[in-house]
Amino acid sequence: MKRIAVLSTGGTIASVPGNEGRAVAGALPGEALISKTELRDGIQVEVESVFQKASNAIGPVEWNTLAEKCQALAQSGNFHGIVITHGTDTLEDTAFYLHCVLDTEQVPVVVTGSQRVPHAVGSDAYANLRDAIVLAASAEARGLGVLVAFNQSIFSAGFVRKTSSFQLNGFDVPGLGPLGMLDEGVFHLLQRPRMLARLPIPEQTLPRVDILPGYGGADAAVAQAVVDSGPAALVIDGLGRGQVPLAWLPVLREAIARGVVVGICSTTLHGATHESYEYPGALHEMVESGAIAISHLSARKARIRLALSIAARGADISSVAADFDWQFAGIQLS
Ligand code: ASP
Repeated sequence: MKRIAVLSTGGTIASVPGNEGRAVAGALPGEALISKTELRDGIQVEVESVFQKASNAIGPVEWNTLAEKCQALAQSGNFHGIVITHGTDTLEDTAFYLHCVLDTEQVPVVVTGSQRVPHAVGSDAYANLRDAIVLAASAEARGLGVLVAFNQSIFSAGFVRKTSSFQLNGFDVPGLGPLGMLDEGVFHLLQRPRMLARLPIPEQTLPRVDILPGYGGADAAVAQAVVDSGPAALVIDGLGRGQVPLAWLPVLREAIARGVVVGICSTTLHGATHESYEYPGALHEMVESGAIAISHLSARKARIRLALSIAARGADISSVAADFDWQFAGIQLS
């Protein structure tokens, strides 16, 4: 018998019909969801409704609660796997936070949700939940980091993004695809994810890290207002290989000089940042000024990892930069 802990947090998967024909996300407790999941024999589920929220109300406090709960459940020795049900809008943030801090070598952690409410025709709520439970019960799911099960596809929480606002294939990893699939209750593992080093679950409140999205014609006033509001760090969602809008250059240099940690990733959906260019605002200049180049993570993910890294290491830039170093984390080409 495989024992799986299901932690429900709300979202569309936990919706009930509202009076005006809209959905009240998070109103349904986890126990009600499980009752219609038609699990196969050999799997026993224990449900806890941890939150009943829409996922726009889930952030660092809830991430921390979930991480500590998952760690305690894994260490209890009583469970073979853990499933978290979550609103899809910020599912990738919660899953990535957990991916950064949890050890999944013994007990897999799988996050899922649904695009359609449970009471809609053709809802994916029960099918996604059942697949997530089957996956969490699978020994093959161990040690892959946190996984996201959606529409019969399995993704690494290290890379997954919500790519459709409404269709049942709501998640993907652009350019890389899923790690595998769930077909008739069987997990087909086709790829193993590359992972960065695990970070500690923070004991104190996470430092504030804001995202500045790069775009053509961005005004310095926006960047200045954000810097003046006092974040500990900024993630610049940079242009292409990691360039910053020209008007932001003096603002960002001054911010770095004032001790704000600045990470630069790419707004593109696929590919690394790279110091390819030599012109004002190019990544090379920013790195020379003290910014950290971040590859293969969306700005949302980079922001979470930057906050966890600063919480663990303080503002020691070289240690923080090492937490984003894919070479350091894995294969060295020499
Ligand atoms: N608005 C919902 C939420 O994130 C969307 C969903 O769950 O699919 O809570």
